[in-house]
Amino acid sequence: MKPVRFQSWAEAGVIQVPISMAPPLKKVNSYMLRGSEGITVIDPGPRTEETEKEWKEVWRELRIQPADITSIVITHHHPDHFGLAGYLQSLTQARVYMSERAYEEAERMWGSGSVVNEALPALFQRHGMPADWLNQLPQHMRGFISQVKPFPEITPVTEDSSILMGGRRWEPIISGGHAPGHMSFYERSKKIMICGDAVLPQISPNISLVPDSESDPLQSFIEGLRRLGRYDVNTAFPGHRSPFDYFNERVRLLTQHHEQRLQRMEQLLQEEPLTGFQICSTVFGTKLGIHQMRFAMSETLAHLLELVRQGRAAMEEKDTGGEIRFRALQQSYKIL
Ligand SMILES: [Zn+2]
Ligand SMILES: [Zn+2]
Repeated sequence: MKPVRFQSWAEAGVIQVPISMAPPLKKVNSYMLRGSEGITVIDPGPRTEETEKEWKEVWRELRIQPADITSIVITHHHPDHFGLAGYLQSLTQARVYMSERAYEEAERMWGSGSVVNEALPALFQRHGMPADWLNQLPQHMRGFISQVKPFPEITPVTEDSSILMGGRRWEPIISGGHAPGHMSFYERSKKIMICGDAVLPQISPNISLVPDSESDPLQSFIEGLRRLGRYDVNTAFPGHRSPFDYFNERVRLLTQHHEQRLQRMEQLLQEEPLTGFQICSTVFGTKLGIHQMRFAMSETLAHLLELVRQGRAAMEEKDTGGEIRFRALQQSYKIL
């Protein structure tokens, strides 16, 4: 059977185009909106031979010429969203709209001067990750470079500027924690939110501590949820999985999930001081591939740093520059 290449959400004026990506997610949602200003593509997906082919099939089925695409809008810098932007720009001459902060982050991760391949293993090592995991990181990280090249020329977007897509004005909302400078877009007349990975149904978006980037990503993520939760949303179009109609409820559940996770880690630390990797192994297990282990470790560290920021835990290092352990600062509270 021929795979379904797109789905039209006529009421919202949005075409959903699922594009292939690596497991476990397997698909990222790209969206297309048509208006008199031309066609906008939101988050075209990672660049691989397969995704280039998928886009050509979509254009053929929809009878679109590449030159009909006048805007490419990127929610955040992750390869599964930003990857094809530069390649599509070379085919279409479209403008690529993105927040300056998100572009900066793409440079930090995959630009020519990137030091993330050394900095990330060094950070994880200080938090107790064993060598057999650390050794897999540089090759794993290098694997993304071909998915994001070439970089596009961007037109920076700020929260003060609205953006025209599908003949309607959308308000950008910038949030962090999953990715710095992440943009969601809200359309007031139909109460539609295009939310990238800031809010996902079923999945809890990964909270990423990245060296030399946001210093407290969990706080920044929760602050983003608080702001996004103020919008009255009928339908949300997420970066993964299907569009959904319980956006405000989902925002509440994600906020609650992270508070519960903070409590769980705090309880583990009340038993004994632990490294980030020990906590990560207890909470997420170790039967993970390197990709998921990197996400699990980044997320664990984001939570532990939030406990420190809130005065619920302290960090101590054995020697200067040595292994770091976290210790609980507050007495255990037991319900008797
Ligand atoms: Zn993402
Ligand atoms: Zn994603």
